Amino acid sequence: MNRRAKPKKIKYFTPKMQAKLLLVFCVIIVALIGLIIRLVYLNQKDGEKYAKRVLSQQTYTSNSIPYRRGSILDRKGTVLATSQKVYHLVLDVKYMLQEKEENLKPTINALVETYDSLSKDELMKIVKTKPESQYVKLLKNLTYEQMAVFKDKMEKDSHIKGVWFEEDYIRQYPYKSLASHVIGFTASGNVGTWGIEQYYNDDLNGTNGREYGYFDSELNLERNIKPAVNGNTVVSTIDANVQNIVQKQVDAFNEEYGSKNIGVLIMNPNNGEIYAMASNKAYDLNNPTDLTSFYNKKEIAGMNEDEKMEALNKIWRNFTISDAFEPGSTFKPVTVASALEEGIVSPNSTYICDGYEEVGGYEIKCSNRTGHGELTLQEALMKSCNDAMMQIVAKEGKKLFYQYQNSFGLGEKVGIDLPGEASGILMAKKDRNNTALATNSFGQNFTSTMLQVAAAYSSLINGGYYYQPHVAKEIINDEGATVKAFDKNLIRKTASRETSDFIKEAMFQTVEAGTAKTAAVPGYTVGGKTGTAQKLPRAAKTYIVSFIGNVPADNPEVVIYVAIDEPQNVIKQADSSLATKLASKILAEVLPFLEVYPSNDEAFTENESNTGDNSKKNTEHTSGTDTKTNKNNNSLTNQSNEVNNTESGQETNPNGDGTTMGNTPADGTITGDTTADGTGTDGTTTEDNSETSDEFDPDALTDLGTETGE
Ligand SMILES: [Zn+2]
Repeated sequence: MNRRAKPKKIKYFTPKMQAKLLLVFCVIIVALIGLIIRLVYLNQKDGEKYAKRVLSQQTYTSNSIPYRRGSILDRKGTVLATSQKVYHLVLDVKYMLQEKEENLKPTINALVETYDSLSKDELMKIVKTKPESQYVKLLKNLTYEQMAVFKDKMEKDSHIKGVWFEEDYIRQYPYKSLASHVIGFTASGNVGTWGIEQYYNDDLNGTNGREYGYFDSELNLERNIKPAVNGNTVVSTIDANVQNIVQKQVDAFNEEYGSKNIGVLIMNPNNGEIYAMASNKAYDLNNPTDLTSFYNKKEIAGMNEDEKMEALNKIWRNFTISDAFEPGSTFKPVTVASALEEGIVSPNSTYICDGYEEVGGYEIKCSNRTGHGELTLQEALMKSCNDAMMQIVAKEGKKLFYQYQNSFGLGEKVGIDLPGEASGILMAKKDRNNTALATNSFGQNFTSTMLQVAAAYSSLINGGYYYQPHVAKEIINDEGATVKAFDKNLIRKTASRETSDFIKEAMFQTVEAGTAKTAAVPGYTVGGKTGTAQKLPRAAKTYIVSFIGNVPADNPEVVIYVAIDEPQNVIKQADSSLATKLASKILAEVLPFLEVYPSNDEAFTENESNTGDNSKKNTEHTSGTDTKTNKNNNSLTNQSNEVNNTESGQETNPNGDGTTMGNTPADGTITGDTTADGTGTDGTTTEDNSETSDEFDPDALTDLGTETGE
C-alpha cells in the first residue's frame, strides 16, 4: 500500500525563545554558584570534624583481632603451655597533635605518670621526629591491669588523645622446664619450634578475626566484626607429676655423679602413650635461647652466632627420640623372642657358655670371660650371656634375624608425633656377615633410639602388640569439645602370646635373681633388662649404661627405660646398676601417680627356682586398685659407688635427622664384648669390661650408615 508522506513544517528559533533560554541558563548558573558556596561552607564547617573522625578510627576500622593459640595440657588437665592476652600501647602521634598544645601536654604527662619506663624526653623526641606517624609502639605485653589504669585516665580527661591498645597473646609455660623436650616452644608469630608446639602447630593455631568499620550518612561509625577463631588445645599423654619426678631424679643423679647425657622414657606398653620423656638438658621454655644454664659467661662470649645456634640445638633436641646409640643387652629379649617365634629355640633349650664364641675368624667374648657354664634360655637372658645369643642367631640365620629386627621397628622411625625423630642405623645389607650377625645379636653394631627400644620392648611384654608411641591424647576445641582423639594405634603383631609370656617371666627373673636386681622396687614386681654398651671408638672405653623394665611384672602397665651416657665420677663407668638404681628410685615415686599401687599381699613365697612362673603366681590381679601388684621381697642391694674421677672426653653418638641433628659415627672398630651387666646373681660385680678393640676388622663397620642414612 502506498501512502504519501505529509510535508514537514519548518520551525524557527524566534527572539522570544532566545530570551527564554538565556533566562534558564542564568538561573542554572546562579544555582550552581550557590551550591559551590554551600559546599565550601560545609567543607569548612564539618570537614575538620569529619577528617578527625576518620583519623581517630583509621587504625580501628580495619583492625585485626588476634586469635588465641590453643593450650597444651597434661593428661590430667594441668596447663603446660598457654597463651595469655596482653596489650601493646600504641601512640598515634598525628592524631594527638591535631589540636596542638591542647592535647600534647596532657597526653604526654599521663603516659609518663602511668608508666615508669616512659620518659618525657623520649616521648617529645618521638613527637618531634615523627609528627606524621600514626603507629608508634611504646610499650609491649602490658597486663590487663596495666592497660586499664590508662584507659581510665583517658575516659576522665578528653585531652588525652592518640593512645590506644593493641591486643595480642604471649605464650607462657607455667612449669618452665617441665617436659621441655616434649612441649617445645613458639617463636614470634605463633610458630611452634620443637615438640608438640611444632608437630601440632596447625591445630594449635587459629584464624585471626577482623574488625571492619565504615561511616554512615550521619558520620557515625558502623562496625562489622568477623570474630577470631581460637586455636585448638592439645591434651598430651604426659603426666606432669611423673615428668616432674623424673626430672628431679635425673638432676639428683647428675648432682651426685654427673653424666654426658641421661635419657628417661616412661610409657604405657598397652597403648603407646608416653608418660614422661626427659634428658639432663631441660631448658626454660619461657626463655629458650638462654644458654646461661649450660655454659658460663666466658664460653657464651666466645661463641659466634652459628656456634650459639648449634649449642641451642643440642639443648633443644629430645635425647630419647633424636639420639641413636647401640642398645646393647637391652636388645637381647628381641633376639630371644625372634628365635622363639621361629621355633629355633624353645624355653627348654640350653647353652654352654665358655666365655667366647669364634665367628668369622674372630673371638667374640662373653661378658663373663670365664664363661657362664650351662644356661637355660631364661638364664641366658638373666645373666645377659653373649655366647648364648651368638649361638641362637647362628642357628636362626641372617635372613630371619634381620627380618625380626625390622618387625620390631628398628631401623625406621616409629612415627611418634614429635619432630626430630631419628631412625637409627642398622648394619648395611652388604655387611651383614656372620660376625656382624653375632654382634648384632647382643645389641651391638647397630643403633637405635630409646623410643624404638621402648616400643619394641613394650610389644614383647604386652602379648606381642606393637603400638605406635604417641604424646597427644586428644585435641579439643575452644569450647572443650573433642576434635580428634588419639586411640591406641596397633602397627603390627611382633610376637605370640606364648613368646611374650616367656620374655615377661625371664625379665621378672632378671630383676629377681639376675643382672637387674637393683631395679627392684619395694612392694612391686618388676621385670627388666640391663644394658652396658661401649661407645665408639671402643678404645675410649666410654659407656652408655641402661635399664629397660616393666611394672607389674606379670601384667605390665608401665614401661621405663633409663639410659645414662658416660656416667661420671664412678669407679666403673660400665656399671649398669647406675641405671637400675635410678630406674628403681623413679619407679617407686611415679607408680602411685600412674595408679599402680604396691600390693598389700604379704603372702609372697620365695622363689623356689628360676624356672617357675612365680610372677604369675604372685601377681594375679584382683578387682581392687590397691591389689594390682604383689610384694616383691627382694630388697635393693646396696652397692656403694665411691666417687672417683674417670676420664671421658668422647663425643656422643648423635644420629641425624634433618638439619639439626648430627651424624652417626661409623668411625670405630667393633669388638665383641660390651655387654657386662654390672651385677651377678649374688649382687656383686662379677664381670669385667676391659676391652680389646683391635680384634675386629674395622671395615666391618665402614658402611654402617649406608642403608638407613637420612
Ligand atoms: Zn656367657
